[in-house]
Amino acid sequence: MRDVLLILLAALGGAAVVWLPAALLLRLLHRRSLTLNVCVLLVATVLAMLAGVLAVAEGMFISAHDLQVLLLVVPLSGLVSLLFGGWVAWRLARTAMWAADARERERQVEASRRDLVAWVSHDLRTPLAGMRAMAEALEDGVVSDPATVAEYHRRIRTGTDRMASLVDDLFELSRINAGALALAPVDVPLGEVVSDAVAAAAPLAAARGVRLTAAQEHWPTVRAGERELSRIVGNLLLNAVRYTPADGTVMVTGGRDAEGGWLEVADTCGGIADGDLPHVFDVAFRGAKARTPEADGGGGLGLAIVRGLVEAHGGRVGVANTGGGCRFTVHLPS
Ligand code: ADP
Repeated sequence: MRDVLLILLAALGGAAVVWLPAALLLRLLHRRSLTLNVCVLLVATVLAMLAGVLAVAEGMFISAHDLQVLLLVVPLSGLVSLLFGGWVAWRLARTAMWAADARERERQVEASRRDLVAWVSHDLRTPLAGMRAMAEALEDGVVSDPATVAEYHRRIRTGTDRMASLVDDLFELSRINAGALALAPVDVPLGEVVSDAVAAAAPLAAARGVRLTAAQEHWPTVRAGERELSRIVGNLLLNAVRYTPADGTVMVTGGRDAEGGWLEVADTCGGIADGDLPHVFDVAFRGAKARTPEADGGGGLGLAIVRGLVEAHGGRVGVANTGGGCRFTVHLPS
């Protein structure tokens, strides 16, 4: 009985010699990786066991031969446990990282949802209140001269068109954010999509005195949803025309590189402020020049939709200033 007590004390003393510095080390490492912490834990366990064995051997409770065997077996099984434990810890750390990423993504989606709600309440309610006031004035006969009546009717119609297009954009964006986009990718000749978009934007470009041209050749075929690709190109073209002053130029080019197909829309808008560049693709972002909603102005959703659609295709979109203007570049898989 006394021997057992002595062995227990020796084992405890040996373990304490190892565990005191190990506990300190673990405390210092508590913000470091899980794998590192588990490895320290396993090494400390093996060392504590060895220290216990040595302490017991010192008290002559085991023979020199048994001690030799133990000194071989304990580190070896410790090494195996270390390898296995390190692998398990690495897997756990990876799962934890994925969970953290998912939480971060969820937080971002929630933040953009909050931005949208704030945006809807401000940007939809203000013009709606204006249209309501005009409709009431017409109803009550407050305005009666034919020119003002016609102007009110025109403003109500353009206002409702704008609201309808904003609601479409909102719907598209919420489908993208919810991951509910049912893409049906096919091989699409990018040149054809661009020439349709140029034809659609030509009247606006002509009205604003902007020269709109597209390269005639080198267009790649990309793998994309046709409707979504038209939307991407259309949004970029309309923005370029809207933000380029009269007498400016909008040029669309495309080609193929190692990544797949690419498309560039370059304009002479005068450049985007450096501080705004990282935010132009954010939901509801509108640059300084575009803060007041105009009749043909958007609601700051166009580029967020472009980015969402491009990323849903496994591609990427970017923007850079080019001397007197800016250039939007889209890369899509072939
Ligand atoms: P909207 O045009 O409806 O405001 P967008 O998401 O399409 O919203 O664009 C966000 C902002 O990025 C715009 O308000 C504008 O300041 C800037 N921007 C977008 N496209 C261009 C462009 N081609 N040239 C200059 N500025 C642009």
